[in-house]
Amino acid sequence: MIIKSDWHIHSEYSYDAENPLELIAERATEQGLCRIGITDHANFNDEKFLGDLHASVKGVKEMQKKYPFMVLGVELTPIERPEFDHIAITGTREGYEPPASDKPYDIELACSKEELVKLGVRYAIGASHWRVDSPNAKKLEPDLDACIKEWYRQQMFLAADERVTILGHPWYNGKGIWYEDFYVIPRSMKLDIANELKRSGKYVECNSHFFLTPKATDKFRRQYAEYLREMFEMGIPVTYGSDSHKNYPDAREKVEVWLREAGFTEGDFSEIAEKDLW
Ligand SMILES: [Zn+2]
Ligand SMILES: [Zn+2]
Repeated sequence: MIIKSDWHIHSEYSYDAENPLELIAERATEQGLCRIGITDHANFNDEKFLGDLHASVKGVKEMQKKYPFMVLGVELTPIERPEFDHIAITGTREGYEPPASDKPYDIELACSKEELVKLGVRYAIGASHWRVDSPNAKKLEPDLDACIKEWYRQQMFLAADERVTILGHPWYNGKGIWYEDFYVIPRSMKLDIANELKRSGKYVECNSHFFLTPKATDKFRRQYAEYLREMFEMGIPVTYGSDSHKNYPDAREKVEVWLREAGFTEGDFSEIAEKDLW
């Protein structure tokens, strides 16, 4: 298999996932994976998400006694700086009113690297989510160009930020607006992102969802695998992320069909090197 480790898995400590850690560890052992990373969501700096993170940390540390191949990670996502500040002051997301602005808000992530390291977290997936679909600060109905621009801004932020180890599912878009044709995004933007990843010594993720989701076309899947291959040939290490939320099924065979077509072979996929773990 090309894929021998999985660096993006959600446990029951994520608000949207159901996998008990023990089930993940058992299935990963059956699948012959040599390392797995648990990356529960820490979306906001509020009690709910930080509580989830603390529970995940505690659960993983306990499970590592039995399964030392389990690594503690986290998934961080770009949020609005004004909302982060609002939560920092009030302790809650409630009552947050986005200030009027023509420009996109500054980006923030829920935790500092210092806080994560203190908890024992060893790496972070940095990945864009819903904000790509609402690029305008005034929350005007976004068009494709506005989404692409915001997508690019967020990828560049994540590719440069010291808290991010792996750029997670860089193709994600909640509304799936480019799942027919990833080439609607200018090539220069994709190259900028790749160059920034290379400069900052980060990894890029091959996320299984895009090979499996019925929202994507085969054309998109081929483009996705080709872009990964291009980055790999630039020297950017590629990690696999099942991004599993439930039952931890083995999706590797379906994914590898596309990877092989793009030129990947055994030995091309990376683990996170020890020097890159916090
Ligand atoms: Zn994600
Ligand atoms: Zn995820």
